[in-house]
Amino acid sequence: MFIIRLIILLIVVATLLLLLKRLFSSDPEPEQLKSGEAENMRQCKYCGVHVPESAILVVNDEPYCCQEHADLDQH
Ligand SMILES: [Zn+2]
Repeated sequence: MFIIRLIILLIVVATLLLLLKRLFSSDPEPEQLKSGEAENMRQCKYCGVHVPESAILVVNDEPYCCQEHADLDQH
């Protein structure tokens, strides 16, 4: 009787694992979000804050997080 219970338990566990695998493989959105966060980061020359490359402001070949910090660093 113990072996039959063990086999049933193994089948249940295997089924659960298959279901979990399907859930994770059919839902690729979290991985896409992760790769989206891997955008190149630049550091503001004035305050040191990290800003995505697409949002960085380049003044005199130096990266800044905003126009205000670019102006402040020119003086
Ligand atoms: Zn800044």
